[in-house]
Amino acid sequence: MQVFGSSGTRGRVTEELTPAFVLRVAAAAGTVWGADRVALGRDTRLTGPMLADAAASGLASVGADVDRLGVVPTPALQSYAASEGVPAVMVTASHNPPEYNGIKLVGADGIELPVERLEAIESVLLDGGQALATWDETGRDRSVEGGRRRYREELLAAVDREAIAGAGLTVAIDPGHGAGALTSPAFFRELGCDVRTVNAHPDGHFPGRDPEPVESNLSDLGELVTATGADVGIAHDGDADRAIFFDERGEYIEGDATLAALADAALGPGDTTVSAVNVSQRLVDVAERSGAELELTPIGSTRIMTRIRELQAAGGTVPVAGEGNGGVIFPPYRINRDGAYTAARFLSLLTDRPASEVVAPYDGYANVRENVPYDEEAERAALIEAAGEWARDAEGEVTTIDGYRVDFGDAWVLARPSGTEPVIRVYAEAREPARAEELAAAVLAPLEDAAAAGG
Ligand code: MG
Repeated sequence: MQVFGSSGTRGRVTEELTPAFVLRVAAAAGTVWGADRVALGRDTRLTGPMLADAAASGLASVGADVDRLGVVPTPALQSYAASEGVPAVMVTASHNPPEYNGIKLVGADGIELPVERLEAIESVLLDGGQALATWDETGRDRSVEGGRRRYREELLAAVDREAIAGAGLTVAIDPGHGAGALTSPAFFRELGCDVRTVNAHPDGHFPGRDPEPVESNLSDLGELVTATGADVGIAHDGDADRAIFFDERGEYIEGDATLAALADAALGPGDTTVSAVNVSQRLVDVAERSGAELELTPIGSTRIMTRIRELQAAGGTVPVAGEGNGGVIFPPYRINRDGAYTAARFLSLLTDRPASEVVAPYDGYANVRENVPYDEEAERAALIEAAGEWARDAEGEVTTIDGYRVDFGDAWVLARPSGTEPVIRVYAEAREPARAEELAAAVLAPLEDAAAAGG
């Protein structure tokens, strides 16, 4: 997929991503869908109204009526799409910085489009095959009120409301000025929690922090947890499909540890869980202990969701899946990422133990990340070949979905070309720091030899 790639169509607005492009993508999607009606939402970015107008024009030009929901989390738009049985276009750049925007495409089942559907839209886009309607068949648009309320009601019906309310939790929330600012504080209040917030007004300048919920952006939330004596801190990305947590001491919890804790609570013998090829040893260990299969896909939630659908179609049960970036998927609820739903599932684990205890079993793993840069395509190929040779000789299980991953039981190493920079990324993870260092060094040595030979 040239256009959609791993994170959909995203870029710096007016430099890489123009309204004209968004209009063409929306018209191409509308053509492939052939739907009478399409839902449209956006996050809080400054360029959201402009690009949502472009998407609405594109959809109307191929004959679709447009339901405009305004600012909503991506999972709220997905909920609307599923309940109305209409496809949807979300204008969002998720966790990217304020100058970015982009679009996500959702099917009439409320699930992000699978790879083959995106490819069909991409060919219409690249061939200019948008099926424009005659003037009197073009679409009308209307504002839909209450999309956020409907979403909260659906969430409340789907989670363990009584247990969570009974626990009397104080919850600190940092929606990062994104779409979750308009839903998560209200949702957790309705869930019976005492809610404290920071960065909780929608603001496309993102004055308090960048939309990406990584530790370096979340010091405000850690302080809020400590200052208010909260039981847990919850942070979202710009479109609130991810959730990252802080424990009751104000300490950041690794997304990999949260995923492992949620998976441990959900997985049983015979189940399958799905994650990406850079999956943490923590989830490898949880799957092993639970008697569940772990399936790996190329990096990116689209690939994971596509694989979940294939497994379900073949009769498999997938109670939980996702990545260590806060993007957790609970397929029995919906095959999507939902920051508020994920957070409610995490709160369900806190009814009898503090957050620090819940995640303690999945703590203390050591990660090493290194980059090996290259200049040209030939050098890149030589580096990948060197990684392949090393992997074939290693005493472990080799996965070649995306680069080379070798699993050793207690640890793993992965060498893969970056999708965005001219570097080969090397990851290693083990329970012991020395073991992770040793494995990273072992695969780095032949890569650096190959780089030296090429340079
Ligand atoms: Mg997101």
